[in-house]
Amino acid sequence: MKSIAIIGGSLAGTRAAQELRVQGYDGQLFVVGEEHQQPYDRPPLSKAFLAGTLDRSELDLLDAGEDAELDLQFRTGIRAERLDPANRRIALSDGSELVVDGVVIATGGRPRTLPGTDGISGVHVLRTVDDALGLRADLTAGSPRVVVVGAGFIGAEVASTCRGLGLNVTVLEALDTPLSRVLGPQLGTACAQLHDDHGTVLRCGAVVDGLSTTDDGANGRRVTGVDLVGGEHIPADVVVVGIGMIPATEWLAGSGLAVDNGVGTDSGLVTGFPNVVAVGDVARYTSAVSGTVVRHEHWTNAADQAGVAVTNLLAGHTARHYTPTGYVWSDQYSSTIQLSGHPHPSDEVTIVDGTPQERRFVATYQRDGVTVGVFAMNNAKLFNRLRRQIARPATAVG
Ligand SMILES: Cc1cc2nc3c(=O)[nH]c(=O)nc-3n(C[C@H](O)[C@H](O)[C@H](O)COP(=O)(O)OP(=O)(O)OC[C@H]3O[C@@H](n4cnc5c(N)ncnc54)[C@H](O)[C@@H]3O)c2cc1C
Repeated sequence: MKSIAIIGGSLAGTRAAQELRVQGYDGQLFVVGEEHQQPYDRPPLSKAFLAGTLDRSELDLLDAGEDAELDLQFRTGIRAERLDPANRRIALSDGSELVVDGVVIATGGRPRTLPGTDGISGVHVLRTVDDALGLRADLTAGSPRVVVVGAGFIGAEVASTCRGLGLNVTVLEALDTPLSRVLGPQLGTACAQLHDDHGTVLRCGAVVDGLSTTDDGANGRRVTGVDLVGGEHIPADVVVVGIGMIPATEWLAGSGLAVDNGVGTDSGLVTGFPNVVAVGDVARYTSAVSGTVVRHEHWTNAADQAGVAVTNLLAGHTARHYTPTGYVWSDQYSSTIQLSGHPHPSDEVTIVDGTPQERRFVATYQRDGVTVGVFAMNNAKLFNRLRRQIARPATAVG
């Protein structure tokens, strides 16, 4: 291959660029990213960067001078608008076109919003640096009452940061137990207790019906509260919507790629075209282990997939399978939560060290007598030891 375009200049795209050079690719390398930013890391956006204790420069994914070392040709602030894989053409939003031998799709996703809330002042989602700056500006203007919709990892982290800023926070969660679809009810409950410990009001089984607003003059409408199904009104000056994301695949319409809740790939992250691979939050691959179709929305997955995808792209066929570790972390209040493996909410949970009451414990998930996952709150040492017991199949294709 003499030319490769990476579409999406964030974590998965940056790792793909680094891997391409590590794996010996010395041709042209374009990185097309719609944000007006050099590649940056997202996890701090809900934590230290939102709190104002971390600078933008500390989010950089590339070291100083690394883009020149890797010989990357950046197209920042430019969207890919169409892909024609058969003719190897990518149409860009500035009217230009790239004609390349290989394509890495790394377009991640966009936050899910509450219907009908676009353009209402005080209502935020959180995916980008600009989102975080806009939210921080609202959080630090007076002492706003904050309502976070969704008690998943990002919602919980935002609530934690807002409490750190001394704000009144209510978290609304539609499920009976936060994170129960990921962690199961027992460990979801253990995480939910962190909110209570730190003075955040957590309301479970709370389904949002809509937002109340007031006329804010030239600024349009401003949020005044959240209305729940059942009629209750919760006053709010700032509402943060953390209800998941939607894969950014609209630019692939008509491309001939399998697009359905992400970009469909085989077990090696290769699409229906051997010269097009997908990585990160946007990739929906068929697991070589279970045969099921999976898409992850976590940092380690996005970073780890790049090496496998790039090997297969350069080989022109699927030479390696992707087998994820399932590692996820979340920092909430002063606690670190870690999860590894692929637990199902119905797996048997055993606390193997500490107790949830101490907010320091480790638990394993067992299925048919086999350890399929490890969870820890504030015990990284034991977590790291136990996670090695989770079986990981070989990645080479026979
Ligand atoms: C606030 C926040 C906190 C998080 N915290 C954690 C955490 O603590 N632990 C954890 O494991 N994970 C965390 N994550 C998840 C992790 O950051 C993501 O899994 C990771 O960013 C995925 O990387 P990606 O490169 O696949 O996609 P993204 O980071 O979404 O990047 C995709 C890029 O592609 C660009 N793009 C989209 N469409 C186009 C197009 N048509 N043309 C050009 N460019 C395009 C986008 O603008 C974006 O820059 C967090 C995420 C967020 C938002």
